[in-house]
Amino acid sequence: MEKKETMRRIVLVPVPAQGHVTPMMQLGRALNLKGFSITVVQVQFDLVSSSSQQFPGFQFVTLPKSLPKYEVEGLGQIEFMMMLNKTGEASFKDCIGQLLLQHGNDIDCIIYDEFMYFCGYVAQECKLPSVIFSTQSATNHVSRCVFSKLDLDKFLIDMKDQEKQEKVVENLYPLRYKDLLPSGFGPVEPVLKIRGEVVNKRTASAVIFNTTSCLESLSVSWLKQELGIEVYALGPLHVTPSPPSSLREEDKGCIEWLNKQKSRSVIYISVGTVAQMETKEVLEMAWGLCNSNQPFLWVIRPGSILGSRGVEALPNEVSKIISERGYIVERAPQIEVLRHPAVGGFWSHCGWNSTLESIVEGVPLICRPFQSEQNVNAAYIVSVWEAGIQLEGEVERGKVERAVKRLIVDEEGAGMRERALVLKEKLKASLRSGGSSYNALDEFVNYLKTK
Ligand code: UDP
Repeated sequence: MEKKETMRRIVLVPVPAQGHVTPMMQLGRALNLKGFSITVVQVQFDLVSSSSQQFPGFQFVTLPKSLPKYEVEGLGQIEFMMMLNKTGEASFKDCIGQLLLQHGNDIDCIIYDEFMYFCGYVAQECKLPSVIFSTQSATNHVSRCVFSKLDLDKFLIDMKDQEKQEKVVENLYPLRYKDLLPSGFGPVEPVLKIRGEVVNKRTASAVIFNTTSCLESLSVSWLKQELGIEVYALGPLHVTPSPPSSLREEDKGCIEWLNKQKSRSVIYISVGTVAQMETKEVLEMAWGLCNSNQPFLWVIRPGSILGSRGVEALPNEVSKIISERGYIVERAPQIEVLRHPAVGGFWSHCGWNSTLESIVEGVPLICRPFQSEQNVNAAYIVSVWEAGIQLEGEVERGKVERAVKRLIVDEEGAGMRERALVLKEKLKASLRSGGSSYNALDEFVNYLKTK
C-alpha cells in the first residue's frame, strides 16, 4: 500500500572516491527516474561538486565539518576511511536534522555506501530507514562475511599452509581461502576493523549490490540466504542513462586516435583511480607493450607511478616508441573507449566498475589486480566467465608481450571475446523488462514506497 502521493526523498551518502561516487550517482539517477527526489550528502565539496550541475533537480549538501584537504592528504585508503567515519557522525546527524526541518520530516530512506558506516549509526539514532549500497562485487561481500565468522587465530595458522590457502571455500567456487584475507592495504588490523563495521548491518533493512544474478549467481543466492535482510542485485547501474560524474577531466583526443586504428587491435590499459605502480613495473609494461607490436591506449594518472608525477618516469627511447604505437592520457572516457570497435582488450586492475564496464561491452581482459577484492574479481573473470587471463608474479616485458598477443592476436583471445560477448547479451537481457536486474530495481522501488 502506498504511503503518500508526494515525491519521496532519498538521501544518498557516497564515499568521496570515483569508484564509489559514480555508481551511487547512477543509483540516484535510476531512483530519480522512478519518481524519487534525491539529496546527495557529500563529505568534501570539491570531490563531487563537478557533478552537481549535471544532475538537475538533485539537492547537494556538504557536511558542515567536512575533512579539510590538508588533513587527508597523505593518508592511505584505510586511514582515510577510518578518519571519515570518526569525524562524520556528529556532522551527519546535524545535517539530517536540518534536512528533516527543510523537508517537513519527509526523508524516506538513507542509502549509504557500506564504507560510510557512521550513517548507519545516525539512521538508527534518528529512527530513519536505511539501506546499504555496496559498490563492490557480491562475491567480495560474501568473502568478508565468511571471514567474519572464522576463528581468526586458527585461520592465520592454516594460511601458512600453501594447500589450505588454495582450497576453495565450500560451495563458493572460485573463492579460495587465501582470497578471504585482506591484502594490498598495509597493516591488516585496521582493515579488519573496517571490515567488521562493513559486515555489521545495524538497522539497515536491505543491501543493494551493483551486480546481477547472471554474473554472480552463487554469491547473490548465498547473500540472500545468509544476510537476513533484503538483497537487491540491480546492476550494472552504469547502463542506466546517466550524466557523467567524473571527478577529473577526460581526454577525448584518444577517441580520434582510436578511430585511426584497426578493428579489435588496441589494448586499453588502466589501473583505475587509486592503484599505484613502481617505476620498474611501468617500464617493463612499456617495453612489453611496445614489443607486442599492438597499438595501445594507456591511462597514466598523475601520481599513479610511485615517486614520479607521470609519464616523465619513462625513458626517452620508450617515449619515442610510445609516440609511434601508443597513446597516453591522464584520464580516458573509459566506457566510450571500451565501446570503441578498435579496442580488442583491456589491461585492468579489476576494480568492480572497470570489470562491469568491460563485460558490458564484451571486451576480454588482462587481469593485474592489486588488492584482495580485485583478486576476487580477477578469479571470476578468469575461472568463471573465462573472459580473460591473469598476469601473475613479477611484471616482466616478455610476459607482458605474451599476454597482449594471447588476448589480441591468438585464437585463445578470440574465444575469450566470444564468451565476453555472450555475457554481454545475458547482461543486456537482465536489464530489459522481465530481466532479473530490471525486476530487482522495481522490487526495490516498491519496497521503498511501502516503507
Ligand atoms: N575511469 C575513467 N577513466 C579513466 C580511469 C578510470 O572513466 O581513465 C573510471 C572507470 O570507468 C570506472 C572508475 O573510474 O568507472 C574506476 O572504478 P573501479 O571500480 O574500476 O576502480 P577504482 O578506481 O575504484 O580502483
